[in-house]
Amino acid sequence: MVRREAPLATVDQLALAHPRDFVEGMLAAMPDPVPGGEERHLAIDTDTIASTGTKEAALRAAGALCAAVDAVMAGEASNAFCAVRPPGHHAEARQPMGFCFFNNVAVGAAYARARYGLKRVAIIDFDVHHGNGTQAIFEAEPAVFFGSTHQFPLYPGTGGRSERGVGNIVNAPLAPGAGSSDFRHAFSEHILPALSEFSPDFIFISAGFDAHADDPLASLSLFEPDYQWVTREILRIAAYVCDGRVVSTLEGGYDLGSLAESAAAHVTALMAAPDVS
Ligand SMILES: [Zn+2]
Repeated sequence: MVRREAPLATVDQLALAHPRDFVEGMLAAMPDPVPGGEERHLAIDTDTIASTGTKEAALRAAGALCAAVDAVMAGEASNAFCAVRPPGHHAEARQPMGFCFFNNVAVGAAYARARYGLKRVAIIDFDVHHGNGTQAIFEAEPAVFFGSTHQFPLYPGTGGRSERGVGNIVNAPLAPGAGSSDFRHAFSEHILPALSEFSPDFIFISAGFDAHADDPLASLSLFEPDYQWVTREILRIAAYVCDGRVVSTLEGGYDLGSLAESAAAHVTALMAAPDVS
């Protein structure tokens, strides 16, 4: 495994998934650190508060996705995991929410299409919360597939099966208390066949680990082997539809012990990706 620092995203990159005036307005509104100065905050809502470290972190989070796309497209890496915060999948085109300011995975997906001319990209989201922002950004874009498992009902309240976009969205909601077999069934029966059929040129993963049994924010019961399993299944499809090109990014996960173990299980599976050469 090669570790790289995440570069800052450019306004041009962010403007691929968000209106440029929104990007510029947010960057102007987020507090800058002042040496020796007081901590300052910008509260968007009760969950979503920027501190003086947030602007740089948010820029590096989205920048990581673009740099990871570059590394995979250049053949410098077979796949990549972006260990970033703040997360992104709740951020809509002009509305930060749910700890998210810019939609990192949407920026990465839009960047892959714009920079490399990829025709079809897919985003798979197994965070326990529905990726409402990602769905909203791409719901009218048939060239982007979005497949999500999430607890339902739960914040943010979207993600019902009937939300199909233009046929490019597959939501597989899971009832509170659902565990490994329900999760694997949802993937095997709904998400993976649709992903396979869509046959993307690049696959992104919104990897939130807050569906873990120990997570305090929700009530699904997944464990590390489930994250390893789903990662392998996605890689198996990636190997035959897109030469294994996968970029994964951290979304949620709020029990720090199980977040670390789950992310390690996910990255271990990414490192063991099937050889496509
Ligand atoms: Zn989440």
